[in-house]
Amino acid sequence: MTKLQDDIENYLSHSHPHSDEYHQAVREVFDDIAEVYRKEPAYRRWNIAERMLEPDRIVRFRVCWEDDNGQVQVNRGWRVQFNNVLGAYKGGIRFDPSVNESVLKFLGFEQCFKNALTGLPMGGGKGGADFDPKGRSEREIMRFCQAYMQELHRHIGPNVDVPAGDINVGPREIGFLYGHYVKLTNRWEGVLTGKSPGFGGSCGRTEATGYGVVYFLKNMLQAHDQSLESQRVLISGAGTVALYAAEKCIREGAKVITVSDSRGTRVFRNGMSEKELVSLRTLKLEQHGSLEDADCGTWHSNKTPWFAAKGAIALPCATQNEVDGKAMKRLIGNDLLALCEGANMPLTQEAHDKLIDANLLYGPGKAANAGGVAVSGLERSQNASLQSWSMDKVDTMLSGIMEDIHNRCIEHVKRKDGIYPYSKGANLYAFKKLAEAMMAYGVK
Ligand code: NDP
Repeated sequence: MTKLQDDIENYLSHSHPHSDEYHQAVREVFDDIAEVYRKEPAYRRWNIAERMLEPDRIVRFRVCWEDDNGQVQVNRGWRVQFNNVLGAYKGGIRFDPSVNESVLKFLGFEQCFKNALTGLPMGGGKGGADFDPKGRSEREIMRFCQAYMQELHRHIGPNVDVPAGDINVGPREIGFLYGHYVKLTNRWEGVLTGKSPGFGGSCGRTEATGYGVVYFLKNMLQAHDQSLESQRVLISGAGTVALYAAEKCIREGAKVITVSDSRGTRVFRNGMSEKELVSLRTLKLEQHGSLEDADCGTWHSNKTPWFAAKGAIALPCATQNEVDGKAMKRLIGNDLLALCEGANMPLTQEAHDKLIDANLLYGPGKAANAGGVAVSGLERSQNASLQSWSMDKVDTMLSGIMEDIHNRCIEHVKRKDGIYPYSKGANLYAFKKLAEAMMAYGVK
């Protein structure tokens, strides 16, 4: 362990105790940049490491709302405004019982690096609440969104902080949140992204993260003389990211073998058809149901895709730490060719280390799933100029942005045994960009 890594461990355990997810995300970055940090005395002089680990601010608030039985419910809401040297804070809102300050700090920290990789002027932030929307009526979800915005609106603005969706926050929730923002402030402005294209949203935002993952994957395969066509793809999750990644894979001629949700995995032995995909999308994204109730493929209760089927490509698109060491061993043993992260930090530390040791193609989330926030950036441009671009135009721009991100990931690294270390490359590129801006802005 270098002196820097040692200092980071001490700082985290002292200043951010009980924040396992956050420590994991930080460790992953600083393991990769330690050598560069040591060689550049200015980083230490400006104390870039500690400054980068401390969010600009964390707002925590009570969210009170009334359920359908007239009972008053209380939840905790947060907004972590992590770092705005590259632009206004930007990052999603997640509603899930697993949300806590550690999870939001890890997501906010990752978001700073991800946004730096897009090349767009965006800082990093993340927010959410420990609210569980499962089993709640649409009216309850609306009342919760309004109560959350009741506090959040004081802290955001088109040039201050521009939140978007994340787990359990899709166009419907963004609509409720935005509607209440307009009501409270009397201002119609680009303060949230992920709105419906009919009223201020960008075409292609819903598709962007999933499509972007596949664009990144294609670039990665191409750089290693491989192709996506006919490959067997294991996808986890059945939300926005997973299902649009599946759609793009099918259109690129790949075979989507699995999708999953919190109850289990659906396996399509010879690949899912577009028709089956449409039925799953209606079930999951419109009816908010479970894959267990679908009538295509075969159902594997309580199994993850990694144990339910075999495939050369893995796209974890559900949640953090969903692939553990055992699952990674199995994936590698089943001739894994490439893994691209649709979800944020879906690999446990052990799984991550195994994949790095195996020297296989690995697209880290901060690069591979940056398509969503990139199109959010495009949505802000459209809102600011009162324009609405076509799906084709946005998709072409997305594909170009993902190619640029791919190229940035290999700018500072060399191939090892023929394979580019994308994860290290992404961390190095984003770290340098953030550090340079932080030094240029002086001590603040
Ligand atoms: P959604 O809420 O649309 O979907 C999440 C999916 O993951 C659901 O199918 C859910 O199943 C499943 N899931 C959640 N927790 C678990 C678990 N513990 N085990 C198995 N499955 C689980 O979220 P998104 O698709 O928007 O986000 C997925 C991931 O992608 C997250 O990590 C998010 O941070 C990341 N991401 C999202 C972006 C976006 O634009 N939306 C942008 C960049 C990253 P169930 O329905 O049963 O709950």
